[in-house]
Amino acid sequence: MNSPLFHRVCIIGLGLIGGSLAAALREQKLATEIVAGGRSARTLERGQALGLIDAGYQDLAAAVDGADLVFVATPVSAMAATFASIAPALKRGAIVTDGGSVKGAVIRAARQHLGARVSRFVPGHPIAGKEKSGVEAADASLYRQHRVILTPTDETDPAATLAVRRMWTAVGAEVLSMRADQHDQVLAETSHLPHLLAFSLVDTLARQGDSTDIFRYAAGGFRDFTRIASSDPVMWHDIFMENRDAVLSAADLFAEGLARFREAVASGNSDALLGVMTRANSARARFLAMNARTSYTHAIDAADEQSMNAESRREGASVSFTVQPGGQLSGQVRVPGDKSISHRSIMLGALAEGITEVEGFLEGEDALATLQAFRDMGVVIEGPHAGRVRVHGVGLHGLQAPARSLYMGNSGTSMRLLMGLLAGQAFDTELTGDASLSKRPMERVARPLRDMGASISTTDAGGKGTPPVLVRGGKPLKGIHYDLPVASAQVKSAILLAGLYADGDTSVTEPAPTRDHTERMLTGFGYPVQRDGATARLSGGGRLTACQLEVPADISSSAFFLVGASIAEGGELLLPHVGINPTRTGVIDILRLMGADITLENERDAGGEPVADIRVKSAPLKGITIPEALVPLAIDEFPALFVAAACAEGDTVLHGAEELRVKESDRIQVMADGLAALGVPHEVYDDGIRIQGAGQGKPAFTGGEIESHGDHRIAMSFAMAALRATGPIHIRDCANVATSFPGFAELAARAGLQLAVED
Ligand code: NAP
Repeated sequence: MNSPLFHRVCIIGLGLIGGSLAAALREQKLATEIVAGGRSARTLERGQALGLIDAGYQDLAAAVDGADLVFVATPVSAMAATFASIAPALKRGAIVTDGGSVKGAVIRAARQHLGARVSRFVPGHPIAGKEKSGVEAADASLYRQHRVILTPTDETDPAATLAVRRMWTAVGAEVLSMRADQHDQVLAETSHLPHLLAFSLVDTLARQGDSTDIFRYAAGGFRDFTRIASSDPVMWHDIFMENRDAVLSAADLFAEGLARFREAVASGNSDALLGVMTRANSARARFLAMNARTSYTHAIDAADEQSMNAESRREGASVSFTVQPGGQLSGQVRVPGDKSISHRSIMLGALAEGITEVEGFLEGEDALATLQAFRDMGVVIEGPHAGRVRVHGVGLHGLQAPARSLYMGNSGTSMRLLMGLLAGQAFDTELTGDASLSKRPMERVARPLRDMGASISTTDAGGKGTPPVLVRGGKPLKGIHYDLPVASAQVKSAILLAGLYADGDTSVTEPAPTRDHTERMLTGFGYPVQRDGATARLSGGGRLTACQLEVPADISSSAFFLVGASIAEGGELLLPHVGINPTRTGVIDILRLMGADITLENERDAGGEPVADIRVKSAPLKGITIPEALVPLAIDEFPALFVAAACAEGDTVLHGAEELRVKESDRIQVMADGLAALGVPHEVYDDGIRIQGAGQGKPAFTGGEIESHGDHRIAMSFAMAALRATGPIHIRDCANVATSFPGFAELAARAGLQLAVED
């Protein structure tokens, strides 16, 4: 039960907005007494008859007498006169607030007519409404789960703002604050302009010769687009008049866009046309995802982002897997496309000449961040639709300056590779990321690029050189030779991509093999790359030619199934079109050393990348000491390999894998905790682990509870453990699985894992 926030509330203008607040305050028992002031006796009587108010007054001074809160909900044009009438009658300390759709004009009126009382005036705007108006339309639920924007000024008493904020929150609204001029500009673009267009379109067509015909044949699109032309003309008249400047600049901006669209149609420029529509599609998808509070790659303001991150963390923590013990895996499983290759397919496709058709693109957040960045630089990209993307390449020198910073979300690959590529452009770019990416070091990429002549500044953040990263364009680059101090495919790729724009040769030597997808894909796009042992070399000034690419299935995602099919007796799986790049196949080599039955069938080349269909049959595994040379080639697959080790005969020992401690979680410790929870004997080292396996034919795990710490690979690995467990395994915090491996739960269940997702 609420205790009243106010003794007496007075509503002036008891229509849809005022009446709905009265109804909500009454329903929630937030005021002891509610009265209204208004020009027509009829409205006030109806308000009383409907039970919205206790009393009504045509004399506004009498209405506000003794009120602690006055809500003004007349049309905006009537507010100045309203303030003038009530000012002398307001009780000391009374709060005045309003619901007008325009804020600058209302604040000017309040300053002029409320005098000293203006410090207790809290300008507000509920973003809720209907096409109906008047007191009859009042609805107690109108504000529930809607936003209310407050625009307090410097002179507004914070205590008054707080009281108004509490009131709106108590009737179910979400309250935001912003400056009045910002409010008027944003609303001009997002609300006033669409209303202007709807009114104007209907009127324009209605004035045509035979408008009856036009409307008779009007399709659903016309009805959808013009719904808001049924809104109240008087209210909208006021809004256009009172927010004149912001409406005019929004209309001008739109006129420019319309002229560009018209020109594209007139000249038959299909790239420009597709560009507008694909960008609009993706912008709308981002907008819907943002409103639905789902995670998606979006450039949003920091405050919104923080609240969304908190939101998705909460959602993440609430998704869990429960896997029943036993079963086996069989059939055919097509795992999603490789993330590294998906990123590069967009980058090289954009820089190529012609249209690159991509299939099997991984529609995860990271690769989508890359895709959005290239759209922001003027590249037309169709899709993704079910993994298909068409990239309309603009050539090495065709990228355009983005209108604002490029937002990379959580994707380190996108940011680091783009630093190299952007160093060679004629324009400046700023790269930003989410809270976690903003803590990651970028200097090890920036340093060699500066040696090439690039101008790059990172944010110091304790000497780590973190994002935002500013890349200044127009700097001539020269080729260099670089010896990588630490093996890193991202640093190597960034240098090679900058090398495309450099004068002369660029070469990189790596201390240990790293993923070579960039070199291979450049070759696939017809750009010569020489490889000589640990060194990759290219010359600047060439060109890339568009091609067709089928992104191989991700071997890292396949690893869970390779392990699952191996450990459960009687299983057999076929994993088609998996990338078997030798820099990634450590997991196959290690499993084979343990005795796994894995065969590669139909080996072939896909856009420079070797692929194969992988057949895996259940086999007795034995413990091994993992050769350290294989560790970098299987670094992401160790969580799955630990599960295999727990099922093998004898001990498996891993050393030289300290990098596992700085992945999405401390994978050595988090896996060890999970193994302990499922009764698997093990010993943890700084750089690895020893796991004592159960051996063939025996259960390897008890049932139990696993904390995945939001690490997708931990979650998927322990899901496979259930195949050899004696009881159900419950895995918490599994939402991130969907971003790296969309559809994992469904695919695993179809193959035979008894997995249920709880949300
Ligand atoms: P409404 O249903 O038409 O109600 C308007 C109220 O103001 C009625 O009580 C009306 O009295 C009174 N009024 C009209 N002209 C007046 C005048 N010249 N002097 C004194 N009182 C007058 O309109 P509404 O939709 O509630 O809109 C009210 C305010 O909320 C406007 O400022 C609007 O910008 C804002 N707003 C509207 C929406 C929306 O979607 N509708 C959304 C957010 C904010 P009578 O009953 O005597 O006609």
